[in-house]
Amino acid sequence: MSAGRDAFEFAGLPARVVFGAGSIKRLPDELDRLGLRRVVVISTPGQRELADDVAARLGENGLGTYSKAVMHVPVAVSAAAVAHLREVAADGCVTVGGGSATGLGKAVALETGLPLVALPTTYAGSEMTPVWGLTDEHGKRTGRDPRVAPRTVVYDPDLTAGLPVEISVTSAVNAMAHAVEAGYAPDGSPIVDLMAAEATRCLLGGIDALLGRPDSAAARVDLLRGAWLAGNCLGATTMGLHHKLCHLIGGLYDLNHAWTHTVLLPYVMDFNLGSGGELTALLERHGFHRSLADLGMPAAGIEAVADAAVAAPYANPKPVDRDAVRAIMAAAYRGSY
Ligand code: NAD
Repeated sequence: MSAGRDAFEFAGLPARVVFGAGSIKRLPDELDRLGLRRVVVISTPGQRELADDVAARLGENGLGTYSKAVMHVPVAVSAAAVAHLREVAADGCVTVGGGSATGLGKAVALETGLPLVALPTTYAGSEMTPVWGLTDEHGKRTGRDPRVAPRTVVYDPDLTAGLPVEISVTSAVNAMAHAVEAGYAPDGSPIVDLMAAEATRCLLGGIDALLGRPDSAAARVDLLRGAWLAGNCLGATTMGLHHKLCHLIGGLYDLNHAWTHTVLLPYVMDFNLGSGGELTALLERHGFHRSLADLGMPAAGIEAVADAAVAAPYANPKPVDRDAVRAIMAAAYRGSY
C-alpha cells in the first residue's frame, strides 16, 4: 500500500484528543480550556438520556440539550438547530453520539462559526474531519471547512459500552473503509499509511473480540482507538470509489450509513485490490450478510448510482467506467459476486 509515497504532503489536524475510560469527567475542564460558557449538547433522539447526563455535568455553563439530529443532516434539521442555538445565545456546542450528532454540530458550526467539542459514541470517525454534509431534495452535498472540525474530541470507551453489537460491527466496518481508501489515496503519506495499518489491526481485532465477548471493555478500547485512527485517515486524504458510492446511495435513498458501507466495501475492495472476499467471509461467518436490496434500495438505484458516479470525476486507484460501477452496484444489490 505504501508504494508511490516517495513524495508527499501532510498537514496534521489541529484537534485536541482526550482518550480513555471515564474521560467524560474531563469535559468541563476541556470546555474551560476553550473558554466556553454557554454550551448546548446536541444528540439524536435515541441518545437523549446520555445528552441530558452530559448537560448536567456542565453546571451553569450548560444550556440543556438539543436532541433532534438525524442521519445525513437534512437542511431543515440544520436550520432549526441553528435557530435554536442563536435563540439561546450559545457560544459553542458539544455533540454526543455518532456521525449524525457530529454532523448536525458541524452544520451548525458551518453556519455560525461556533466551536465544537465532540464525544463520539460510534466508530464513524466524523469527529476527526473538517468535512460537513447536508442533504436536500437533490441529494447530499459535502464540503471541507476547517471551522467545522471539532476543537476537542473526548473519546471515552465507556460511552460505547451500550452500542448494540450490530451497530458496533457495521460502524467498525465504516471506519475500516476510511483506512482502506486512505491506503490508496492520491494524497496519502507514510504517516497516513501507519495510521491506516494500525486502524485496521485495532478494528479487525476489536470486531473479533466484541463478537466473542459482547461486554468486553478491552474490545471497546480497541474499536474506539481504531475509529480515531481511521477518522484521522479520512480527514487527511481524499477518499475513492467506495466513499463516492456510499455517499450517493445515502443521499439518494436515505439508507443506513454504516450498513451501506458494510454491504459495499467487500465489492469495492474486490474491484480495487482484488481482496474483498476475505472481509465478506469474516462478516458472513458472524452472520453479517445483507444486500443493498435488504437495506431498502430500489432496483433502479443500480442504474441511477452508476450514472451519478461517472458524472463527476474523483480519485480512485483503478480507472472507473459506468460498466464497472454498474457491475459493483448489481453485485451489492444482489448480495453476491
Ligand atoms: P448515527 O450517528 O446515526 O448512529 C446510529 C444509531 O446509533 C443512532 O440511532 C444513534 O442514536 C445510535 N447510537 C449512537 N451511539 C450509541 C450508543 N453508544 N449506544 C446506543 N445507541 C447509540 O450513525 P453513524 O453511523 O455513527 O453516522 C452516520 C452519519 O455520519 C452519516 O450521515 C454519515 O454521512 C456521517 N459521517 C460523516 C463523516 C464526515 O467526515 N463528515 C464521517 C463519517 C460519517
